[in-house]
Amino acid sequence: MTGPQVGSAIRFGDQVFQWDEAAAARTGRPVLVTQVGRSFQQQHPDVPVLLDHGRHLVVALPDLELPHVQLTDLEQGTAEAEAVPVHPDWRVDPMPEGGTVVVHRPEAAARAIDPVTAELLDALSRESFEGTLGFLAGLPTRHSLSAGFREAADHMAALLTDRGYAVSRPAITVGSGSSSNVIGDLAGSGEGPRGVVLITAHLDSINLPGGPSAPAPGADDNGSGSAGVPEMARVLSGRPWRHDLRVILFGGEEEGLHGSRQYVRGLPGAERARIRAVLNLDMVGSLNTAAPTVLLEGAPRSAALINDLATAAATATGLTVETSLNPFASDHVPFLDAGIPAVLTIEGADSANGNIHSANDTLDTVDPALAMEILRMDVAALVGWLEPVDAAPRPAGSVVSWGPGRLDVFGIGAGSG
Ligand SMILES: [Zn+2]
Repeated sequence: MTGPQVGSAIRFGDQVFQWDEAAAARTGRPVLVTQVGRSFQQQHPDVPVLLDHGRHLVVALPDLELPHVQLTDLEQGTAEAEAVPVHPDWRVDPMPEGGTVVVHRPEAAARAIDPVTAELLDALSRESFEGTLGFLAGLPTRHSLSAGFREAADHMAALLTDRGYAVSRPAITVGSGSSSNVIGDLAGSGEGPRGVVLITAHLDSINLPGGPSAPAPGADDNGSGSAGVPEMARVLSGRPWRHDLRVILFGGEEEGLHGSRQYVRGLPGAERARIRAVLNLDMVGSLNTAAPTVLLEGAPRSAALINDLATAAATATGLTVETSLNPFASDHVPFLDAGIPAVLTIEGADSANGNIHSANDTLDTVDPALAMEILRMDVAALVGWLEPVDAAPRPAGSVVSWGPGRLDVFGIGAGSG
């Protein structure tokens, strides 16, 4: 890798694209592609890829017009100005200015793990996660309008009810059909006005080439995120928090973010204002990189959440962290569009998962160890957003012992927490 020249290089994690007018004249105009899985490469195998960073590509757009891409729009900058995905699974933007960082690799410093976080991390269970994932991926499909989706929603509702959540299942429309979201609420116990923290994932799956009734195990997309939600809900329900926690399994994501768009649209202003953070999980189980990597994707308004997650990753995991402020094609987008701080946690993708949206997105493609690392990062950040409160008043200057063989002293007094 040659060092970037300010003004000419564009950074994607550990890779650098060198803008070179002479090369561009030979290969065609370089443009930036953001894709779901390998959707762009699969649909346009003939388009030369100049830099492959999984979810992000630089490709040489030939002198022909691709469906969904208007070169004139790109040249006039209107494609970017409208900020509307021109294809549901990939987006083409003009190359950003030289010196731009498209995918950043932050260097976050690890912190000491506090006792509350340590207890929750210990409680996370790979077996419990794999049990839910196996159930979801074992259904023939979770297409939003299928019996499989209803069965998956029943299963998630039962899990959340078991874990002490108040469950509701508001109906949503998906095209001319009807589906649902599954919502679980856990009330906080802080005094005064409380905020709310959301954990979200889409429960539906899809087989794009095969149609609604074709097999769609959706193990990675998004059985992995869907199974992570009730597992985090389980460990978080074991102690009191200052703020409310709401977990949501969305329907209709694969047909165009219907569940999350309708949810956000239906939120009264006071409820929107109460949201401290939205943590969205979509594809957390496919190991596409040599080193286990997570991509944190948000917008400038979620920068604080991204920093917290990067610190949590450094503190509680061995994950390599990449970040992007180029949000695309998952349920964090409607929240960001409404001005609500939201972030997507998704597997890193030096070479993206090409199995999704087909019958090949099966359980054997999922690496539960990667998913558990991402859950550890998420839980460590959630502790800060939910704010622990003491289970019961304790005398000042208590000695609290926690964990086998560990003894820590905390100044816990009236008014703490
Ligand atoms: Zn997905």
